[in-house]
Amino acid sequence: MPRTVVTGGAGFVGAHVCRALLAEGREVLAVDDLSTGRLEQVADLVEDPAFELVEHDVVLGLAVEGPVDRVLHLASAASVPEYLAHPLETLRVGAEGTRHALELARTHHSSFLLASTSEIYGDPAEHPQAESYWGNVNPVGPRSVYDEAKRYAEALTMAYHRVFGLDTKIVRIFNCFGPGLLPADGRVVSNFLAQAMAGEPLTVYGDGTQTRSFCFVEDEVRGILALLASSWTGPMNIGNPEEHTILEVAQLVLEITGSSSTITFVDLPHDDPARRCPDITRAREVLGWSPQVDLREGLQRTYDWYRHRAEQMR
Ligand code: NAD
Ligand code: UDP
Repeated sequence: MPRTVVTGGAGFVGAHVCRALLAEGREVLAVDDLSTGRLEQVADLVEDPAFELVEHDVVLGLAVEGPVDRVLHLASAASVPEYLAHPLETLRVGAEGTRHALELARTHHSSFLLASTSEIYGDPAEHPQAESYWGNVNPVGPRSVYDEAKRYAEALTMAYHRVFGLDTKIVRIFNCFGPGLLPADGRVVSNFLAQAMAGEPLTVYGDGTQTRSFCFVEDEVRGILALLASSWTGPMNIGNPEEHTILEVAQLVLEITGSSSTITFVDLPHDDPARRCPDITRAREVLGWSPQVDLREGLQRTYDWYRHRAEQMR
């Protein structure tokens, strides 16, 4: 049976990817150091004989015995407070971790997919962002540990493609959310939902006029698998071009949850991008992919999952 290695397989996106690969009839080996990932994410998978989870830091190396036909490199902190709290680990997993994952793919003659990010566009001067845009990243600001690590990871991936002919794919993920995004994760959707459910004020950073474009995890994973199955070798935006201000997101969360929480405005973090929206022409044309779930439906489904989880933990 074909076997896929998924680094970061116990994380939010990683667990959904593992689930989708298993549903395709593949064997999956998830490698995760559980730094931000949790066993809870893969609790429904551990009994599946086609699934294996190994607790390991990919910065230290990545050797796998037996057949490997695909390597998906998702390991990296993704939430802003997490990577700001672990700057050196974030740089190392983007650099050394990516090199080890690429070496694994090279030695097994397997294909390779890098989970990259809309953050490689920084605070974009072009809008919406197409893959051809080179970005506007502050290389020495606090966020650079993530942005530049991912930019380096993309450069390394393309170098492996050019030097070794490795079959590579780079997915640039734009603000993915959905069930499985844990309440304590630190990203905006999980913060707002957790705050609304606790009756606490929703913390809008800055004046809330900055925009993001949120992609429901089911759409994201469908796009990742389509990219993996394609012959495309370079970067591909997989995101939902429906763009919202953060204040709109806060209001939508209050409406969906029926919460009486207020909204409080706090300092905008350093270098917080003013706007972000994917141009998905390439994904539409090459993969025939487009998102199906809008923000309202996605938030409703995520809220349903939050309520279900809270009931189970009681
Ligand atoms: P996450 O924090 O939930 O998952 C990351 C996983 O990587 C965790 O399970 C963590 O324990 C693991 N990990 C981190 N460092 C590791 C190491 N050194 N060795 C082994 N495992 C390690 O985040 P996520 O949202 O699931 O993100 C997954 C990937 O997608 C990341 O590479 C992230 O940069 C990328 N991405 C995500 C989004 C998003 O909106 N979710 C956006 C852009 C890019
Ligand atoms: N944000 C916010 N309140 C929060 C968390 C985040 O207003 O409690 C804002 C943040 O400043 C950013 C947007 O929401 O403008 C998205 O933040 P997130 O950390 O989810 O993702 P990223 O900044 O990586 O796009």
